[in-house]
Amino acid sequence: KTPRGTTKAAARAAGADAIAITHPDRVVFPDDGITKQDVVAYYRAVMPWMLPDIADRPTSTIRCPGGIGAPCFFQKHVMAGLDHVGTAKLKEETGAAAVYLYPRDEAGLIELVQFGAVEFHPWGSHVDAPDIADRVVFDLDPGEDVAWPRVVAAARKVRSLLDELGLVSFVRTTGGKGLHVVVPLNPGADWDTVKTFARGFAEAMAGLHPLEFVATAGKRFRRGKIYVDYLRNGRGATAVASYSLRSRPGAPVAVPLRWEELGRIGSGDAFDLRSVPRRLARLKKDPWEGIDKVRQDLAAVNAKLGA
Ligand code: ATP
Ligand code: MN
Ligand code: MN
Repeated sequence: KTPRGTTKAAARAAGADAIAITHPDRVVFPDDGITKQDVVAYYRAVMPWMLPDIADRPTSTIRCPGGIGAPCFFQKHVMAGLDHVGTAKLKEETGAAAVYLYPRDEAGLIELVQFGAVEFHPWGSHVDAPDIADRVVFDLDPGEDVAWPRVVAAARKVRSLLDELGLVSFVRTTGGKGLHVVVPLNPGADWDTVKTFARGFAEAMAGLHPLEFVATAGKRFRRGKIYVDYLRNGRGATAVASYSLRSRPGAPVAVPLRWEELGRIGSGDAFDLRSVPRRLARLKKDPWEGIDKVRQDLAAVNAKLGA
């Protein structure tokens, strides 16, 4: 298997063996008997599939040094002791500068796991061009009383309007309650263009299907509907990485799917640390194959949307 860009051999050559794992038997997911060693083995197993989507993107991690039963925290800035992770001084949207971390290779990702990282959340841009977004993420957040088949139908409606606008999209489970629909951009677009598009698109969805979608943040607007969270798109905003574990009981995973298989998936947390490596062993090709070859541009699209 040679998923996008990397081969298993190439990922290995980056040398995760160089990372000493301390406390391998420490329990990370207490309800599931999953240890730090299991988490390391999981990330090594998915590495060739995961790395192309996260490498060289500024990345926040959720670290759970005492396992998910103890406090976890979102960490976006670099910390002392990391030798295999890239660092980049970047301005935040507020104007303040901070040193961000970014995984470059297998060793860097595993080193972050050694430091307690369970979840990975990359930006929608790369470190060498942080102002240029190369993907838009529509984060579909169902209200509490929305059954899963409606979430699936909603994602398909999102795909279909994107398609009408000439945009190819890809879908993944989040390991949580919803789905992400990802639109690759090439050439990329500046964040203002992306935000205008994302907001215009979310409002168009809510306008076309007012009983299904809402484009306004705030839990009370979400009742019985699906919030199209377009705010995941901005400099410094993140979305969970494909193949990232989630720090919740059951060790669920965010999993890229082919659109054709979406109907066979029962929930946003249908996949977990144990089932994902089995799925990958069976797959003939990357579910998101071709995402890095799609050429599509937002310039003309905003005009069509009237945004
Ligand atoms: P679900 O399907 O359950 O909604 P999700 O990963 O989409 O799972 P959201 O709460 O919708 O969860 O958040 C979407 C994305 O926004 C996350 O994947 C994460 O990258 C980012 N995010 C969420 N909460 C925060 C936070 N407190 N600080 C920074 N980024 C966040
Ligand atoms: Mn979400
Ligand atoms: Mn959200």
